[in-house]
Amino acid sequence: MSTDFSTVPNHSSEYRKLPSVDALLRTPELALLVAELGEPPVTAAVRAVLAAARTAIGAGGSAPAFTAWPALVMRHLEAVMTPSLRPVINATGVIIHTNLGRAPLSAAALAAVQRVAAGYSTLEYDLTAGARGSRHDHARRLLCDLTGAEDALVVNNNAAAVYLALSALCQGREVLISRSQLVEIGGGFRIPDVLRQSGARLVEVGTTNRTHLRDFIHAVTAESAAILRVHSSNFRQIGFVTMPALDELSDAAHARGLLLIDDLGSGALIDTTAYGLAPEPTVQQSVAADADLITFSGDKLLGGPQAGIIVGRAELVERLRRHPMARALRVDKLTLAALEATLYSYRRGRALTELPVWRMIAAPVVEIQSRAAGWQAHLASHGIAATVTPGESAVGGGSLPGETLPTALLAITHPAPDAAAAMLRRQSTPVIGRIQQERLLFDPRTVLPEQEETLLKVLATVLQ
Ligand SMILES: *Cc1c(COP(=O)(O)O)cnc(C)c1O
Repeated sequence: MSTDFSTVPNHSSEYRKLPSVDALLRTPELALLVAELGEPPVTAAVRAVLAAARTAIGAGGSAPAFTAWPALVMRHLEAVMTPSLRPVINATGVIIHTNLGRAPLSAAALAAVQRVAAGYSTLEYDLTAGARGSRHDHARRLLCDLTGAEDALVVNNNAAAVYLALSALCQGREVLISRSQLVEIGGGFRIPDVLRQSGARLVEVGTTNRTHLRDFIHAVTAESAAILRVHSSNFRQIGFVTMPALDELSDAAHARGLLLIDDLGSGALIDTTAYGLAPEPTVQQSVAADADLITFSGDKLLGGPQAGIIVGRAELVERLRRHPMARALRVDKLTLAALEATLYSYRRGRALTELPVWRMIAAPVVEIQSRAAGWQAHLASHGIAATVTPGESAVGGGSLPGETLPTALLAITHPAPDAAAAMLRRQSTPVIGRIQQERLLFDPRTVLPEQEETLLKVLATVLQ
């Protein structure tokens, strides 16, 4: 749409009504903003709003009244000054919600990040020697202690961990993998693609539903470097299925000079069956089954920051550490600080009480029910009718597919649930819930206690 005056003669008078930048900056409201934020952002906002007004006039609109301008500029400033990455309240009941940032960090992890980020640190400094140290030393001993592995290395995420292991140890050689494990993890991360990128050659073994030990054994050639097991984290096969146990695979691999690499995905250190969930393989089990390298995420069931953790045989981990790609995939001090603090929670035996992910998994349903009832009573005092209804939470994050935890949901019947949900997302602290039929559902399990007050304020305002 042209905003040339000559092409829209009927509106030239509207263009003339547009105030000058200077006149707007002199209004008391905007002068205050200039004092607070400095002149450049306010001037940029004024120009942007003026440009929008010109476009609107070009499209047949009219100029806003002079008194309306400060508010328009302020609204624009608010929109551009709000970070796009900001906190939300997760009332979906999905604990490790990949789109909402996976694992919330523990108070101890946050404090560690703050301490290390605010100043200088021992990131690569050895205090005893007074000389250069290695960033790779930081979480290493803790990871070995907790998992029983000989050595450990931390990289950017689990995708990077798998890629680094295959690049460093299997490039140009064959990697055997069951056809049932040629999976896509999510966000387009596909095991066959990572294998190809690493320079390893994929050898498919067995069938979609059944792979026997003998299938692996028959596939071994002089070119074979490893067997890769990939945990089927985000889907489940039932029925006529079989897959050799990990210790059988490691025996078969080692007897033929091959490595066994185990991509565990979520990397649980705690037994999930204690909470009525299906067993999620633990890192300790993989170490005990003699897998040579085990990779897992830091921000799934471990409950820490985004990271990829590799544990296993010392000589292999050392080769990964020395590989040129290790530098490109390394983590920064913030991640290491959060990870170390998270691992200390396990070390002290406090993971269940200190790590939000495990607190949420372990939360008894009666406790959730009483929180939901508290919300219901609070909203009733604002004239909003809600009920408490049984429902299900999920672990999420590609862990324990199909497994749910019984929960209690706050349910609010609404004539336009989609519009209400959109309004909840537009708040300065957005609230993300679920919609089922005409009902808005909010699961207390994933709402952090310190967010409860904000949640109730938002619900009372939006659903009034
Ligand atoms: C989640 C997952 C990955 C990817 O891990 P990121 O930390 O997201 O990179 C790889 N493999 C498996 C089996 C997974 O479950």
